[in-house]
Amino acid sequence: DDLSELDARVSVCRACPRLVRWREDVARDKRAAFRDETYWGRPIPGWGSPTPRILIVGLAPAAHGANRTGRVFTGDRSGDWLFASLHRVGLARLPTSTYADDGQELVDTRMVATVRCAPPQNKPTVTERDTCAPWIEAELGLLVEHVRVVVALGGYGWDATLRSYAAIGWDVVRPKPRFGHGAEARLVSGDREVLLLGCYHPSQQNTFTGRLTESMTDAVLSRAAAYGL
Ligand code: SF4
Repeated sequence: DDLSELDARVSVCRACPRLVRWREDVARDKRAAFRDETYWGRPIPGWGSPTPRILIVGLAPAAHGANRTGRVFTGDRSGDWLFASLHRVGLARLPTSTYADDGQELVDTRMVATVRCAPPQNKPTVTERDTCAPWIEAELGLLVEHVRVVVALGGYGWDATLRSYAAIGWDVVRPKPRFGHGAEARLVSGDREVLLLGCYHPSQQNTFTGRLTESMTDAVLSRAAAYGL
């Protein structure tokens, strides 16, 4: 189908020289440490339901998380945090997400990274972000008739969501809605409406410092579940 074809195309993209080098260097250097596994070291397609009512938009794959396992938010602490919460609110079958064939399943939910390759220091350049934008836009175009709620992780995911909806022809809200934890905005196109929810990114920077707690994460994701399902 169209989504599988898109996944196949993005997974071989080499459009950003710096990120291609980084993702492959990390994979080569770390393969020894994870000898029993195939180290992915390529772009990370979206993952979850092909007809999601809830879409979760993150920043970029983690070097030793998704870049290793090949599945978004899988195999690192941000993913552990996020999936534990998704499980508590009924959106994920298992409370963990450890590797690509671990039996995990999302319920009417799909996750995507804004930038599909792991960047050094988790910081893509503006050029890399813009080079990658057509992938998330193409994916959104294939999902848009199903999605009722978008959970944006961090300001990066929030802005990417607004830009992506604008790119596929939705009304751009002016002034631009401000990101915050628990922030809400409505995006519209004709008689269609989507609820955009802000959630602090479950990076260790936020979860270790207590800026983002489990109950704060659960509150946003249960709001998404209540609205979207
Ligand atoms: Fe391609 Fe996006 Fe990876 Fe750049 S970040 S190489 S555009 S998949």
